[in-house]
Amino acid sequence: MIAENLAEVRERISQATKKSGRDPDSVRLVVVSKQVDIAHIEEARTAGAVIFGENKIQDAVPKIDQMRSEGISWHFIGHLQKNKVKFLDERFDLIHSVDSLELAEKIANQCQSENRVQSVLLQINVSGETAKFGMEPGELVNQMLAFSRLKGIRVEGLMTIPPYHPDSENSRRHFSRLRELRDQCEKQNRISLYELSMGMTNDFEVAVEEGATLVRVGTAIFGPRRAIDRK
Ligand SMILES: *Cc1c(COP(=O)(O)O)cnc(C)c1O
Repeated sequence: MIAENLAEVRERISQATKKSGRDPDSVRLVVVSKQVDIAHIEEARTAGAVIFGENKIQDAVPKIDQMRSEGISWHFIGHLQKNKVKFLDERFDLIHSVDSLELAEKIANQCQSENRVQSVLLQINVSGETAKFGMEPGELVNQMLAFSRLKGIRVEGLMTIPPYHPDSENSRRHFSRLRELRDQCEKQNRISLYELSMGMTNDFEVAVEEGATLVRVGTAIFGPRRAIDRK
């Protein structure tokens, strides 16, 4: 099942790139393995999955430490509490969810003391929903230089989670807003922000059409999770 689901998601991504005239290799699939046990993650790996996304440090660490091996990488996609920063260690190739300058500084300091540079994305609340994590677009524009100057982290792009809506077309304006914000920040600060992490099971094709370079897909690959964490 997992192998077929994965193949189907890949095919849909590929179709969406074709439809929008994009290079199929410009989109990477993050297989969201939160609440998924190691046996099923292994199944996805055997089927060719190379990037896995986790949203809770305490769940991710034992999985990563047990599975760590050639050829796969882990991304952190959830809200990161400052007191968990020390557990990042070198486990995650990319953190999608840096949502304040304070958190960025904390990660940067930790990484400098470990003599390494952590790649991160900045999470933006483009829809203006009050309940969501993420910075306001204006906050990003004002603080972009401060983020980009931190040693110990490298800001590679932006991430967003639009409000859930059964019609994926509803996400389009939020995705295009994130892309425009990225373009604006690049121009104003003469920096490169290549990555756009956007699109989940419900709307990843629309995200690809709007320029996503990373899509984060769980349910379409592993099936529904326990209700408590469903978005
Ligand atoms: C759970 C989660 C996903 C995957 O959601 P699905 O709808 O299962 O594809 C993507 N991004 C984040 C940040 C998540 O927490």
